[in-house]
Amino acid sequence: MIEIGMIGEMQARSGGWRRLGKRIGFVPTMGCLHAGHMSLVAEAKRRCDVVVVSIFVNPTQFGLGEDLDKYPRPIEEDRRLCREAGVDAIFYPTAAEMYPADASTWVVEESLSRPLCGASRPTHFRGVTTVVAKLFLATLPDVAVFGRKDAQQALVIQRMVRDLNFPIEIIVAPIIREADGLAMSSRNRYLSADDRQRALAIHRGLKAAESAFATGERSAETLVGIVVAEIEATGGKIDYVECRRADTLELAGGRLDGQALIAVAARYGDTRLIDNLFLGG
Ligand code: AMP
Repeated sequence: MIEIGMIGEMQARSGGWRRLGKRIGFVPTMGCLHAGHMSLVAEAKRRCDVVVVSIFVNPTQFGLGEDLDKYPRPIEEDRRLCREAGVDAIFYPTAAEMYPADASTWVVEESLSRPLCGASRPTHFRGVTTVVAKLFLATLPDVAVFGRKDAQQALVIQRMVRDLNFPIEIIVAPIIREADGLAMSSRNRYLSADDRQRALAIHRGLKAAESAFATGERSAETLVGIVVAEIEATGGKIDYVECRRADTLELAGGRLDGQALIAVAARYGDTRLIDNLFLGG
């Protein structure tokens, strides 16, 4: 496994692989890797000859007062997991390498990035689209794999790729959960034992909504209410629980038809967790 810190060197490597006819798979991450990330790596390996994982805690997607400084960076452990998974290259640039001090260009998606996390974190998706575009241009992949855990992010990236003609196939892989249902996240390690136990209400609420949907419940308000009730019963602070059309992210009111997404962001202690559920379609 090679490790590359410079954009020019990454482009040269990927250019070499492409000239040899190798198919390049790419998994962008902020490190602190867990089984969720590694499922994306496995998916990339199934589809490609060469797999590149980027590890970059992207400052531009954090708002003021968010957890940029305390975001966990266990790079040795990340290297080990990548090596064991058969990753070919880690792209591990510094912030100075990624962002010249006078950088003044942004990639902005203006529709799908507005609601949900875009409403509570107004500069977040601008940071995500900009860094992902830059990472694509550094790693030059054929395929890039994202997790459905960040369902809105995946939609925003798919839209960016379509709108800007990136010649990259985007794969969205399922959410990987802990045995008790908590969606895996690098931020789970911030949770106290008590918060972690209470946070299971998010998944419990989504499962309850899924069961209600399976037995015929089609009212968006009722389904949202089921999730809200579970989270509130455990003292979680809800940022949003919303039911939206799975393709456009328009608010789904009244009776659901077509595929819908119930998206959740809630805080336990100081830790903001997200999760979601796709229904129907
Ligand atoms: P992050 O390091 O949190 O920026 O995540 C990097 C990628 O891993 C994103 O595409 C996430 O959606 C994906 N990811 C994070 N957690 C999970 C999970 N529990 N299951 C599947 N994918 C995940």
